[in-house]
Amino acid sequence: MGSGSQQRFDVLVIGGGPAGMAAAARAAECGARVGMVDGNANVGGQIWRRSLNGTEMQEAATWSGRLRSANVTTFYGKRIFDQPEAGVLLAEGDDDLCELRYNNLVVATGARERFLPFPGWTLPNVMGAGGLQAMVKSGLPIRGSRVVVAGTGPLLLAVAAYLRRQGAEIPILCEQASWIRLARFGASLLGYLAKVSQGLQLRKELAGIRYVANSWPLAAHGSQRLESVTISRNGKTEVIACDFLACGFHLVPNLELQLLLGCQIRGGYVEVDDIQQTSVKGIFCAGEPTSIGGVELALVEGQIAGLAAAGQAKRAKGLFGERRKARHFARLLDRTFRLRPELKDLASAETVVCRCEDVPYSRLREHKSWRAAKLQTRCGMGPCQGRICGPATEFFFHWNPDSVRPPVLPARVESLAGSAKSS
Ligand SMILES: Cc1cc2nc3c(=O)[nH]c(=O)nc-3n(C[C@H](O)[C@H](O)[C@H](O)COP(=O)(O)OP(=O)(O)OC[C@H]3O[C@@H](n4cnc5c(N)ncnc54)[C@H](O)[C@@H]3O)c2cc1C
Repeated sequence: MGSGSQQRFDVLVIGGGPAGMAAAARAAECGARVGMVDGNANVGGQIWRRSLNGTEMQEAATWSGRLRSANVTTFYGKRIFDQPEAGVLLAEGDDDLCELRYNNLVVATGARERFLPFPGWTLPNVMGAGGLQAMVKSGLPIRGSRVVVAGTGPLLLAVAAYLRRQGAEIPILCEQASWIRLARFGASLLGYLAKVSQGLQLRKELAGIRYVANSWPLAAHGSQRLESVTISRNGKTEVIACDFLACGFHLVPNLELQLLLGCQIRGGYVEVDDIQQTSVKGIFCAGEPTSIGGVELALVEGQIAGLAAAGQAKRAKGLFGERRKARHFARLLDRTFRLRPELKDLASAETVVCRCEDVPYSRLREHKSWRAAKLQTRCGMGPCQGRICGPATEFFFHWNPDSVRPPVLPARVESLAGSAKSS
């Protein structure tokens, strides 16, 4: 392979979010030689990566400390894009390429937001809810701006609370789930003390904000950038003036790498056994790719996977009860925030669904499968490789990506050339 470095590990962990951190720390504490790779410049994944210096993030600091004490070798700013042969992965950095060899692998690649296209969703200032939060954390000024928050899932609440703390005005928070589902969800939370206290805290922070169920965005309007949003609210439409729309429809797991590695997927998630091992021996999976269940589930699954990957599966048994409870919470999330069928009609004929290749809804609906649509329209063949339009077409048309080919992330030509030499 080219001029990059090569390293070998007993356990290699892909992903430096809560699941990957827990897996790497537990495996290294068992004496294994462990490497952990993340495409971001910082450890912590979606929830912790910008907060590890803050005193409030005790849990993040604890896991970060354990990684350091256990001598985990970390590779930040490196994206795994190919597996040239079994037991070998290639990671691309900003100006280098590494070949990472492993005996056992833990894949903890997390999730991303799901976007559903609707008229006007490509206007400037229509953003993913988590995406806008990340931009504000990186310095985008938001004080005094009016932000409509809409879509589905608990992330909307966290984002609205964060934006309000930064001085944004939130005229409305639209949740597509029904009040009945939300009420059932609220009642089920009584079994989860930590969630109850988080919920009460959010309620305090969101006091005074109009929170409406049975509601979703129908269209975004504006000449140069977003000026207003039409929402459907209990069957009636309402136009709301705003500067930003923070919009996301819950999360979808990042499965591209697991598909490339040949792991079995069931019901949209990676299938794992009791010790988080996938259908491929020696490859474990933890966190959001196995179910969307929040940081507690990610941490406990990561610990089990790390122990098992280090050959200490028996020690992982003590964590099974905690995982059972956290998985139950994931099922509650899934049931509560399942997308309602009316959302299948969100896009109009002209709405662009694949933004990379500029493919409108009208061209896609002529096709019967993701593969046929890709071949005929180039949908999903741009830089995001279907990460945005894939989940949308899955919901609109029930299409599934039938295969994944390397590179799983956009990579430089010289890295691809290095990859070809090493295979
Ligand atoms: C946009 C967004 C914002 C969120 N904000 C919040 C919030 O404010 N509060 C909250 O409670 N929860 C939030 N969540 C949910 C939170 O991410 C989960 O609850 C939990 O942290 C998941 O942990 P994880 O380790 O499974 O995944 P993550 O934390 O997502 O970590 C996965 C890591 O894998 C890395 N990765 C993926 N593929 C590759 C690859 N090929 N090569 C190298 N690295 C790779 C990613 O860079 C990422 O750092 C958010 C989720 C998303 C998608």
